[in-house]
Amino acid sequence: LRGIHKLDMRKRPRRNGVKMKIRTRYAPSPTGKMHVGNLRSALYEFLIAKHEGGDFMLRIEDTDQGRYVEGATEIIYRTLEKAGLKHDEGPDKDGGYGPYVQSERIKTGIYMKYARELIEKGEAYYCFCDKERLSSLKTEVVEGKEITIYDKHCLSLSKEEVEANLAAGKPYVIRQNNPAEGTTTFHDELYGDITVENAELDDMILIKSDGFPTYNFANVVDDHTMDITHVVRGNEYLSSSPKYTRLYEAFGWEPPKYVHLPLVTDENHKKLAKRGGSASFEDLLEQGFVTEAIVNFIALLGWSPESNREIFTLDELIREFDYHRISKSPTVFDLVKLRWMNGEYIKGMDFDTYYEMAEPYLKKTLSRELDLKKIAAMVKTRIEVFPDIAEMVDFFEELPEYDTAMYTHKKMKTNEQSSLEVLTEVLPLLEAQEDYSNDALYAVLAGYVEKKGCKNGYVMWPVRTAVSGRQTTPAGATEIMEVLGKEESLKRIRKGIALLNK
Ligand code: GLU
Repeated sequence: LRGIHKLDMRKRPRRNGVKMKIRTRYAPSPTGKMHVGNLRSALYEFLIAKHEGGDFMLRIEDTDQGRYVEGATEIIYRTLEKAGLKHDEGPDKDGGYGPYVQSERIKTGIYMKYARELIEKGEAYYCFCDKERLSSLKTEVVEGKEITIYDKHCLSLSKEEVEANLAAGKPYVIRQNNPAEGTTTFHDELYGDITVENAELDDMILIKSDGFPTYNFANVVDDHTMDITHVVRGNEYLSSSPKYTRLYEAFGWEPPKYVHLPLVTDENHKKLAKRGGSASFEDLLEQGFVTEAIVNFIALLGWSPESNREIFTLDELIREFDYHRISKSPTVFDLVKLRWMNGEYIKGMDFDTYYEMAEPYLKKTLSRELDLKKIAAMVKTRIEVFPDIAEMVDFFEELPEYDTAMYTHKKMKTNEQSSLEVLTEVLPLLEAQEDYSNDALYAVLAGYVEKKGCKNGYVMWPVRTAVSGRQTTPAGATEIMEVLGKEESLKRIRKGIALLNK
């Protein structure tokens, strides 16, 4: 029990009028991918701490062994690191409040110790009821889940009966003893005071028959002993929170400030599925979103700054973040907005960083010898996510089949006939041209425009159509020809003439 001693004797930087240092924690259960909702909790915890110069802690909540998923802890570390949410304390970084993994905390005996303290105070009791008895109890449906309301049967056991059962090695759980009368008021920073009738509070299990604490108990013991000042979590915990308040009251502890976050829904206002995988951080990266954009987007899932501004770096978020501005209403995971935001981040990237990310997508689409850097530069301000690159540049690889109706453009005053004439006339000029740089090619075509006395577009439109086969391209005719080179450009213009001649 040396561990407990250490945990108990620590000086708490708090109370008696002295402001505690802000300490927040991200407390994930390693049960799979890191869903946007989880990352949002982590981000807000991080921002609350950093806004006030406090500490952000990582605690791994692995007491529900049945839900444990191999590799999930690594995903948590990877995600926090990639997202820039550096923790000040955690399993890999001792800050004097360890252990930081609940399965290791169990070994210190801390949960049992506090559970026994509650038993002594009459705030908890041993329960020896077996499965059969429990399944005969009446159930209630709470938030879609069937819940057995325990009837306090074992509360009436005498001290001697309890001792005898324990001595006989009878399996037991430890339950919270909630009063049948009165009310409990719980305070949330966003939802305000929530008051419930104590009679409605189930005598929840604190220690399971395997000796492990439940989340319901461990979160209270840990948040208190780790001096946590602010708890941010999904509002699925809101309904249990009065029971946690009762635990704090029973211990005589001051609860942390609670911030329960609004639900994140999909476009159809349905809850984003946690294990559906559609919106995990790593999936979004795979879909071509950049980390900074994802983090920026997630920051705005429920929180809004004072101004209308939407683009924030992490440092700017730290400066601006005020959790009082988090909304209580459900917030939609708007993929269109995320794409837009991602596009803004790509526009703002320095070219080398951008190119490093764009290159694999370019190489997947383009196998011919082409100046990939030039092509990358063309699409930088046009893509929203990297996979957009493919359909914007694939015409460089191979001229797509196209309909000659594309040569007709009202505003440019072109039609198939005028285009045939223009292409036929510029072909010998382009054949004679050796320098296929954009500027030189532009000079050739501009010279032709001047001689003909027509509008620029009257010439550029058919040339661009012929060399790209596309209505929209990431660059103008001569830039495209510069990348294609002389041979391929001429081949495509001849092809255009042939198609228009048909
Ligand atoms: N382990 C809980 C979860 O992953 C944490 C909830 C909390 O932050 O208290 O949902």
